[in-house]
Amino acid sequence: MNIVCLDLEGVLVPEIWKAVAARTGISALNRTTRDEPDYDVLMRYRLCILDEHRITLPYIQEVISTLRPLPGASDFLENLRSKTQVVILSDTFAEFGMPLMKQLGWPTLLCHELIVDSNNYIINYRLRQEDQKRKAVHAFQSLSYKIIAAGDSYNDLTMLESADHGILFCPPDALLKSHPQFPVTLTHTQLFEKISQFL
Ligand SMILES: [Mg+2]
Repeated sequence: MNIVCLDLEGVLVPEIWKAVAARTGISALNRTTRDEPDYDVLMRYRLCILDEHRITLPYIQEVISTLRPLPGASDFLENLRSKTQVVILSDTFAEFGMPLMKQLGWPTLLCHELIVDSNNYIINYRLRQEDQKRKAVHAFQSLSYKIIAAGDSYNDLTMLESADHGILFCPPDALLKSHPQFPVTLTHTQLFEKISQFL
């Protein structure tokens, strides 16, 4: 039996922080896991910028409410879920992710959470656990599931490496070159076909 583990941002929905950067005009928020492999460094940097510009959680949630799944992503996910079990493994936060899950038909999302003060400023974040993508894959494998994983970025590498089959989806060039062992897909149709080969 199989479980497909999918990354969220860059695979099913746009990069949330890039949308916040576009709305606020703060170009420094364009930095993502595709640019900065160390997630803690990236989040500390983001929190500093949010603090500097006094941006609140409800403001970011309002931006997120304007986002839509990537073209074709909803159909891809629906078709995939009709064939096998799917879990979304994301380094986003529940406070950001749940409105997007509604648009995707409420798939299972495993992610982290934010720490917000009484004035709705994001003061910190809480990782549910370190290296959660790899640990989730190992946990599912310990339940006798075969794991097929797909992601687009550096924070997906431990998930792809520990899965029985790892697949890259529209990765940045540098990642593609440094990890040529993973098959690369560039559309949801290609990704669906590649996953189907492993089911
Ligand atoms: Mg991603």
